[in-house]
Amino acid sequence: MVQIKTAKVSFNDDGTPFSAEFDDIYFDSNQGCSQSVQVFVEANNIPHVWQDHSEDSFVIVETGFGTGLNFLLTLDRFVKFKQQSNSALTLHFISTEKFPLTKNDLATALALWPEYAKYSSELLSHYDLQEEQLTVSFADIDVSLTILFSDSTKALASLNIPGQGLVDCFYLDGFSPVKNPEMWNKGLFLQLARIAKKNATLATFTVAGIVRRGLEEVGFKVSKLAHDKADIQNNERLAEKSQSLTATFKGLRKGKPLTGFKVREKVESSKHATIIGGGLASACVALALAKKGIQVTLLCKDENLAQGASSNAIGAIYPLLHQNKDTISNFYQLGFERSLTLYQDLLAQGYKFSHGFNGLIEVSYKEALVKRQAVFAKNQVWPENLIQAITAQQVNDISGVGVNHPGLYMPRAGWVCPPEVVNAITQAAIDTGKVKVKTKRTLVAIKALENDRWLITTQKGQKQEQKQVQNLILCTGADSLQIDALNDLPLSIVRGQVSQMKTNEKINNLKTVLCHKGYLTPVNNSVHCIGATFDKDDADLSSRSIDDTYNIEMLERCLGDIGHWTDEDVITSKARLRCCTPDHLPVVGRLPEIDLHKQYYAHLSKDKNWHYQQVAPLKNGLYVLTGLGARGLCSAPLLADILAAEICNEDYPVDEEMLFNLSPNRFVIRDLIKSKS
Ligand code: SAM
Repeated sequence: MVQIKTAKVSFNDDGTPFSAEFDDIYFDSNQGCSQSVQVFVEANNIPHVWQDHSEDSFVIVETGFGTGLNFLLTLDRFVKFKQQSNSALTLHFISTEKFPLTKNDLATALALWPEYAKYSSELLSHYDLQEEQLTVSFADIDVSLTILFSDSTKALASLNIPGQGLVDCFYLDGFSPVKNPEMWNKGLFLQLARIAKKNATLATFTVAGIVRRGLEEVGFKVSKLAHDKADIQNNERLAEKSQSLTATFKGLRKGKPLTGFKVREKVESSKHATIIGGGLASACVALALAKKGIQVTLLCKDENLAQGASSNAIGAIYPLLHQNKDTISNFYQLGFERSLTLYQDLLAQGYKFSHGFNGLIEVSYKEALVKRQAVFAKNQVWPENLIQAITAQQVNDISGVGVNHPGLYMPRAGWVCPPEVVNAITQAAIDTGKVKVKTKRTLVAIKALENDRWLITTQKGQKQEQKQVQNLILCTGADSLQIDALNDLPLSIVRGQVSQMKTNEKINNLKTVLCHKGYLTPVNNSVHCIGATFDKDDADLSSRSIDDTYNIEMLERCLGDIGHWTDEDVITSKARLRCCTPDHLPVVGRLPEIDLHKQYYAHLSKDKNWHYQQVAPLKNGLYVLTGLGARGLCSAPLLADILAAEICNEDYPVDEEMLFNLSPNRFVIRDLIKSKS
């Protein structure tokens, strides 16, 4: 037995039931029941539509069962239709009701319509509020009635839907949107689209914009229906209803899995943005926004920029490419091209940072990698200027050292000094005149305000400051895990220690980056970097000599004594935290409203292929760019462009499928499909 909250109903002098809670009537009895007939029954072309109906059953869904008047009117038409036509059609009337009338109130209300007494007494004899669902069969006339005693959106979301849809016709009742805004939500419209058959018709008494737009957004073609003014007389409420709405469902029933999701709404162009973070992601976003004319304030918690994952002395730039063009490889290919363009543009403009774009070799130092290399050579899915298989002799010639293994060569890849790059990008951003950098500001709290604004609290020394901001962008790397607003993202941290090694005559000549299980960079300022360790959920930032030993031994195990190094050759080392995601792709875009996702996309657990081109419910003005792992150099510039395109309401530099694969709401949607949420 469930607890169902019944309606508080009073009756006007003429017997019309009235809801004090909603300050609205159930139906207008001024003209008998002609208004309900016109607005719901006739507007849906009942009973004519039954004559041409080619299927065995006809399904009507109503929101707001109330007194059941609409049902009785329909039942009456159906009985007459059957008598006249000898049709074998069955009628299934499904109605939702969150606040059902008590049996007594229902009896009082239905007494108004003695002409339907036969059916209303049958309804009353079965009317029972013990369970969440009531089914009554009017077997002799091939009609069944199901009342779902819960909120309309939730009730409709619970319906199992065959591939071609379920519903032929809708009666959208419920108190007016002004008086009952809770019911007329986006989730309800989405459910209507989910359960509708192609060309299903719909009628409702309200012409409110929110309903018209809501229906149009989910694929209904909507028109207004004018009612005969002669019927209206001097009644204010009827005058309101001189028009009603009808609609036909023209939307798509099915689409491609996932990729059909339009994950973000185009936002209004914006004038100001606040970026939290002082690393590569922040710098790239600041520059991308500044170039589009946005004023930017960048808040960095440290005294200097690039103190987190962007602080290593040398970092490799190369795309993560698999044998086939999968999602990850496609993303990193694009990211790599974008990064190269940015870094080379900066150099051309005179910004300085240590770099070397002499290529990178993924050394095939063991049998499995030699086989992998052969697949690359055979498949040839990537252009040669991106990656190519080379022999051991070529590896030695190109790298300048005796590697003696074949490898995959990326001729345009290379290395840069990440903190210098971050400073160069930030300087370029500042030079636009649009960007202010404030250091030693730690983000303490974020609070949502009205009008899509955000109140941020930051701390500088002992002093706390509060500020209202318009577009808040969290480029917070490993600190993302400490930020409440990002709690719903499945982020993790992975500690990585990189060791800086003294150069020597044996390795001094190295021209390219060498990747094995780890990596080894050419010399910069008499130093090579080797690394890196990979410790999940370890947040310790102090460097450990045992990790330096691990880095040296890992290099030796893969490439032999190529650097001729012992622990004594470690100049210094640095442990930093990478922010990672379970699918190894970064996260960029507006943060999702998780609860609304669960409401909108509940049906995905039943039918993962069902999609609708609806804008996902996202938090306006609150953005994230994080989860770059160890590959920020190759991804941050493209991700920053995506974010800037969104904030400035411009076309994205990647397609919709990639947007989804990068978007913060992909995780909740995938969980819904797996019914994990
Ligand atoms: N169709 C009804 C009839 O023929 O009597 C009249 C409906 S009356 C105008 C609106 C009904 O919607 C009320 O019975 C009310 O309890 C119901 N309602 C209001 N909010 C609802 C919601 N969120 N979900 C389901 N029903 C709701």
